Amino acid sequence: EAIDEARGAFERHQWAAAPLCAVEAPAGDTDPVPNPARPRDEVGQVTWATPETVAAAADAARPWDATPEERAQVLNRIADLYEENYGELFAILHREAGKSLLDAVAEVREAVDFLRYYGARTAGDPPVGVFACISPWNFPLAIFTGQIAAALATGNAVLSKPAEQTPLIAHRAAQLMHEAGVPATALQLLPGAGEVGGALTSNPAVSGVAFTGSTETAQIIHKSMAKNLAPGAPLIAETGGLNAMIVDSTALPEQAVAAICESAFQSAGQRCSALRCLYVQEDIADSFLEMLTGAMDAMRIGRPWDVSTDVGPVIDAEAKAGIASHIDEAEADGRLLKTTDTPDTGHFVAPTLIRVNGIADIEREVFGPVLHVATFAADGIDRTIDAINAKGYGLTFGLMTRIDDRVQHVSERMKVGNVYVNRNQIGAIVGSQPFGGEGLSGTGPKAGGPDYLDRFRVHPAPQ
Ligand code: ADP
Repeated sequence: EAIDEARGAFERHQWAAAPLCAVEAPAGDTDPVPNPARPRDEVGQVTWATPETVAAAADAARPWDATPEERAQVLNRIADLYEENYGELFAILHREAGKSLLDAVAEVREAVDFLRYYGARTAGDPPVGVFACISPWNFPLAIFTGQIAAALATGNAVLSKPAEQTPLIAHRAAQLMHEAGVPATALQLLPGAGEVGGALTSNPAVSGVAFTGSTETAQIIHKSMAKNLAPGAPLIAETGGLNAMIVDSTALPEQAVAAICESAFQSAGQRCSALRCLYVQEDIADSFLEMLTGAMDAMRIGRPWDVSTDVGPVIDAEAKAGIASHIDEAEADGRLLKTTDTPDTGHFVAPTLIRVNGIADIEREVFGPVLHVATFAADGIDRTIDAINAKGYGLTFGLMTRIDDRVQHVSERMKVGNVYVNRNQIGAIVGSQPFGGEGLSGTGPKAGGPDYLDRFRVHPAPQ
């Protein structure tokens, strides 16, 4: 009830986002911010930064001149402010990012955890200098906050560019950071798209970049940094995945089905950790898939702010069109096993199941509630693992089994950042389960883990 009341107060509220710069700076156009569940409903307005805004902000950026104790206090104060303002943060997450209540609660929790975890580790070597933090729309509060909290905990100045789809939550969060005591010169916000990101990663005042987004963008940033920034400027990148799960014939089917639905369809599949390719042992496949499609039928697609919603909208019309064309292709090939109708308005995609022969058949990461399924023979586990490894991504992997030796064997052979056994396959638990991948999935180290902050510091050469 308290949550409902807090969210309800913001039902028709309009927010505004704009560059937050430490100096007078030119800004660009203003546009409406749409609601992905109800595209005609404007959630607010955004005034964009331009490359000129970036130049002015970069000139004004100054590493945070405060003691480690002061930085710790301020980071914890930000966490307090997030907790005090949860109703407003949930409402923005529902209306701007299409997050369900469960997702919004988890997201604010994760953001707070990052602030407190890094806030407890502020002492150490000096900062790198000025960090560009470039964040995605799928965790527009948690990843945005995690990157900034790490850079600030170590005393860097931050130039933050949130994703163009989610400027409002970023702006509100940045306001709370300033209110908590982060100086204007240590945190500046630059809402914009790729052009603003490009201006950041080529500005010589920038001495490091933290990035989460697509593998392709990470490669562009890597090149831009090599050309324009000082040699050795760190790039910390968290990128895509093509994550698999193996269910063998000893797994508990009810447990596996519940975990698969969460891993593949929660957040409408818009998580880099999400399950994309399920391998089921062939002798149980028919009955298992029947149970899985039954569970998919029971999932409710709907408005993010309704408590009964399991699957909200995807982020925008472009995302929906890309996912729909993937589903249409599968249907044309006779590989579509299950999908359902969705509400007419809003960018909804139903939980969908597509048959493949193996992960090699999946051309790209489809960022939506689409699960591919293949079977494997009782003696085919190692071939399956090799096929998954050969794909080159290495973010998450799930295993459902009750054979103890198999857990060890598979975990050792699988080249991934995070292995999940007999549970759902879902991102970070800050502190106890740091998150990050290998290969095409990222540079490491893992966010929310013990070595992450080291990359935001300069380590003196040994004498
Ligand atoms: P996604 O598939 O999550 O949208 P992107 O890699 O396109 O992945 O976006 C992640 C972040 O990277 C966003 O903030 C986006 O605006 C930013 N971005 C996109 N292109 C560039 C670029 N050329 N340079 C820097 N940042 C970029």
